[in-house]
Amino acid sequence: MSHEAISVFDIFKIGVGPSSSHTLGPWRAAQRFLQTLIKKNILQDVIEVKVLLYGSLAKTGRGHGTDIAIQLGLSGDDPVTFEVNRIHSKIADIAIMRKVLLSGLHEIDFDPREDIEFLISESLPFHPNALSFLATTKNGDSLAETYYSIGGGFVIKEGEKISTSQSTQLPFPINTNDDLLHWCIKTGLAIHEVVMENENAWRPEKETRNGILNIWRVMKECIYRGCYAQGLLPGGLDVKRRAADLNKRLLAGKNFPDYDSWIKGVRSGGHDFKYILDWVSCFALAVNEENASFGRVVTAPTNGAAGVIPAVLQYYIVFCDSNKEDKIIQFLLTASEIGSIFKKGATISAAMGGCQAEIGVSSAMAAAALTEGMGGTQRQAMMAAEIAMEHHLGMTCDPIGGLVQIPCIERNTMGAIKAITASQLALQSSPDFAKVSLDGVIKTMWDTAKDMDHKYKETSEGGLAVNVPLSLPEC
Ligand code: SF4
Repeated sequence: MSHEAISVFDIFKIGVGPSSSHTLGPWRAAQRFLQTLIKKNILQDVIEVKVLLYGSLAKTGRGHGTDIAIQLGLSGDDPVTFEVNRIHSKIADIAIMRKVLLSGLHEIDFDPREDIEFLISESLPFHPNALSFLATTKNGDSLAETYYSIGGGFVIKEGEKISTSQSTQLPFPINTNDDLLHWCIKTGLAIHEVVMENENAWRPEKETRNGILNIWRVMKECIYRGCYAQGLLPGGLDVKRRAADLNKRLLAGKNFPDYDSWIKGVRSGGHDFKYILDWVSCFALAVNEENASFGRVVTAPTNGAAGVIPAVLQYYIVFCDSNKEDKIIQFLLTASEIGSIFKKGATISAAMGGCQAEIGVSSAMAAAALTEGMGGTQRQAMMAAEIAMEHHLGMTCDPIGGLVQIPCIERNTMGAIKAITASQLALQSSPDFAKVSLDGVIKTMWDTAKDMDHKYKETSEGGLAVNVPLSLPEC
């Protein structure tokens, strides 16, 4: 049976908020379109570029920063390295000058208000997140390409296969949880060890370890930054950032100049249940407030759900005494495999499956990783993932004003706490008596996604998005 090979670095990608499907994906698509122009040696002849957004990208693209991401992508900037505090000034420059420097090399007239079109009543059949680029050259020739942003920052071009690390033959091919269990039983390896063996097919282990530690560096810097950033979130809803106030209250007003001293301060507060609960919420709020502010985040597996895994991993490090590189690497390897299985068996795109595909999947990933880290068996880790998703089934995506703020930010706190509860339940249970399998819940999630009305799939046409009377200024 063929399998899609997905690496830990396909699941965890460094990027910019607020959305992996609506920001990171379109940014990558714009970069890929530029690559086509460069390969065909016509970049210097281009006089016009038009971008058409369809379906969910058109409906919630403004709130999710899709137009901003496209302009940065067309400018040749990279989401991993571009200084996030320059985003707004660069976008303002393009709007004022009505020009864009394609790939940083070739200037053309470009007015984002006219050259990026939000076609809210049109969608393409393959996927709700579609966008087309159309370039015209001075000779009158034109070149068009359509891309699909299929969730978690993954992008595919019309007609091509899914762009992951799939061409590599892995020692332990995995499509389902049963496959993963099979390899664990056959080899006696833990989940994270099976995943590392597969990663070794792509690169030396040292490189994988360093790459994962770099992912964690970005995650923890994001938590720390978010815990000290005050003010209102952008977009017009005037949502007040809460992580900084909570951080200050929990630390009794004490200031810590860097992440390491801050973590010592957090740990020194003890293990009271409410204290820990507040911190888990604080970690998750911090990440998603950064995400909503176009901050640097890691898709886990998406941006909207970017706070769940860092919050649970930070909880594991601080309150379960696991601040060791090996433990962190193992946690992220196991989490990534669970995310891959969900992607293969269902979806990690809210435009396809609602919020169960984002927060639900991230919670399941975190639950499995925490369970294994806490000494659970492979089957208990899988059981924890199942429990976490079982209690997110049917969760809709209905962001108010198309912004990744309400309900998204708080929802990450819920996903993190459910992951911890699911892990604890699994650690206290025998998987022999479980009635629902992880593969069973993945299939159920996919069936539920297919039955879900499009209003609840990242369109802002249902749920909270229509029942909360908030008005936004015209963009
Ligand atoms: S409601 Fe959930 S899926 Fe939708 S944008 Fe917010 S976090 Fe993402």
